[in-house]
This record gives sequence, structure tokens and C-alpha cells, in this order.
Amino acid sequence: MPLQRIDPSFPVDDYAVPEKARTGCVQTAQPGVLAFRDVVRAAYGGGVGGIVRPCTDGAESEHFEGRAWDWPMSATDPAEASRVEALLAELLAPDARGQAHAMFRRAGLRYLIWNRRLWSVRNKNWVAYDSPPHPSPHTDHVHFSFGWPGALAQTSLYAALGVKAERTPVAVELAEATGPVAVAVVALAVMSGVGLGMLVAWRL
Ligand SMILES: [Zn+2]
Repeated sequence: MPLQRIDPSFPVDDYAVPEKARTGCVQTAQPGVLAFRDVVRAAYGGGVGGIVRPCTDGAESEHFEGRAWDWPMSATDPAEASRVEALLAELLAPDARGQAHAMFRRAGLRYLIWNRRLWSVRNKNWVAYDSPPHPSPHTDHVHFSFGWPGALAQTSLYAALGVKAERTPVAVELAEATGPVAVAVVALAVMSGVGLGMLVAWRL
């Protein structure tokens, strides 16, 4: 369990926010995603895969914002499939203190898709994910989507790895917030001179 050996003394983070998946078109591989990719490959091998995808490329995706990673692994290759299963078991296991899905939460993951199944913070369990209706059954790669805190390396895995956390852009706070919080963020943005035009541009 190589990932679980990464400083277990850090507190486990809350689950990532399940909704409001995409907030804009950023086209930058986010630091938490890069660090997660590197630590997974160091422990389990496999290819580099892809993070950023053009925003014109198909359905909405966290790849448009550099906060999803595709790990190239084959579900029909027993050696590769067993490595994926080992990682997924590690991500979803309780930690030594019994905190559920500890590494998944510490990494700031929102959902993952592998071999016709999806595990998300919404369901907190595996559900069927097949093609059709979805474009890909994910039998040749694992898809990892991150909430913004994980993508920006703000959650505890990245602190333990020594990855510098990035500040949350105002537009992201706005998109992730709801109700009075969203209104407050807009007010703050206006007061601090961040034009609404910039917020709108972010959301395109
Ligand atoms: Zn993907």
C-alpha cells in the first residue's frame, strides 16, 4: 500500500463537492493532478496519459480545466488490471484510524471511471458506467476527476508530498459556491476590482 504510507498523520479531508463539475476552459494541467499522476506512476507504473483536452472536444469534461487524468491501463491485460485494482483498493480503503475512503479524499478526487464502473463522491459506491450510453467504457484507461481543492493541491495528500498549493481563482469559488456564499463572492469580486467581465470570461 505505497500511497497509504505517505504521512498518515495528516487529517483526512472532506469529500470533494460532487456537483458543478466544470467552471470554464483553463487548458492548464493543475498541480495536484500532476502530483497525483506522478505518485501513482511511481508506485504502480503505467503510462503518462493525458490531462488537458481541448474545450471543443466532445462533452463537458474536467479535462477542459486540467483537473482530470487518464491513466493508460488495459482492463484485458491481467497484470495491468491487477495493478489498477490494487490502486483503487488503496484509494478507497479506510486509513489506520478507520476513516472511510481516506486516500481518495486526501487526493481530492471527485470520481473515477474504470472498466464500465464509476465511483463518485455522490454515490460512495461503484455504479455501472457503460458504452453506450457513455462514449467510452474506460477499458483502456482509468479516468480520475478532481474537485478544485485537490486539483489546486490544497488537500492533505499534496501537503504531505510537499507540493505547493495554489490559491483558488475567484471564478472557481463562485462556481463552487451556492446561495448566499455565491452572492458574497460576487460582492467581494466587485469590491476588490475583479470585473464581472473577467468572471464571465472564465465561465465561457
Ligand atoms: Zn478522462
